[in-house]
Amino acid sequence: ERRQVIVITPTYNRALQAYFLNRLGQVLRLVQPPLLWIVVEMTPASAETAEILRKIGVMYRHLVCVNKNNTNVKDRGVHQRNVGLEHIERHRLDGIVYFADDDNVYSLQLFESLRNISRFGTWPVAMLAQSKNKAILEGPVCNASRVIGWHTNEKSKKLRRFHVDMSGFAFNSTILWDPKRWNSPFSNPIRQLDTVKEGFQETTFIEQVVQDESQMEGVPPGCSRILNWHLHMDAHGLVYPRGWLLQKNLDVV
Ligand code: UDP
Repeated sequence: ERRQVIVITPTYNRALQAYFLNRLGQVLRLVQPPLLWIVVEMTPASAETAEILRKIGVMYRHLVCVNKNNTNVKDRGVHQRNVGLEHIERHRLDGIVYFADDDNVYSLQLFESLRNISRFGTWPVAMLAQSKNKAILEGPVCNASRVIGWHTNEKSKKLRRFHVDMSGFAFNSTILWDPKRWNSPFSNPIRQLDTVKEGFQETTFIEQVVQDESQMEGVPPGCSRILNWHLHMDAHGLVYPRGWLLQKNLDVV
């Protein structure tokens, strides 16, 4: 029996949203089922998102949440990912959980590789350092499936425990409700924190899930392949063609 993949994607309405969601959705459409795509928006939900999800042909859940603190703090998807985790926990959804931001580029092989993870898997992600015009790697260095070190970069020399990108790890959902979970310094439940410094979001989360590298699995064994790319591409203050039926989104109906 093939293991379920559960993808959590925070998203928000902006010019390239439809392009991003279509691009990711079309990759997910090619992944062998069972796969569940949990797409989480803050209120108000965009009509475009609902429409894209209805048409994409992937099993999905479209969750909408309100900003808990009722502030305008932009947490870049943190609260939305937590709403996705809560949903998985409440419904005891069984599978491998993966945080896939809408704007990154994913290979089909990545999603198939997730199925081989038994507890916690991680892999190197290629990133584009905008200012320096160069590609950098972030993630594990492996000996077969053993994690023996980390690719670091100038940006991440800061004292992070684990040098992993948000899109560079996945874990078994049973960890979320495992009563025998190792005695972590964090209180239950496992969540992303909106109080951590920039760059520490991933490691702070992973430190709640695993104790050290010995509990990690390199994906695929050897970690010698790039399975996804973290790009920074967006368009702000776009001017739209006059008379077109567009709101904030570039989806043309
Ligand atoms: N995001 C969101 N609301 C926001 C900002 C970001 O839902 O106000 C989502 C965004 O759609 C993406 C993820 O959070 O899926 C990460 O955002 P972004 O790529 O801008 O962050 P970065 O990768 O630059 O840290």
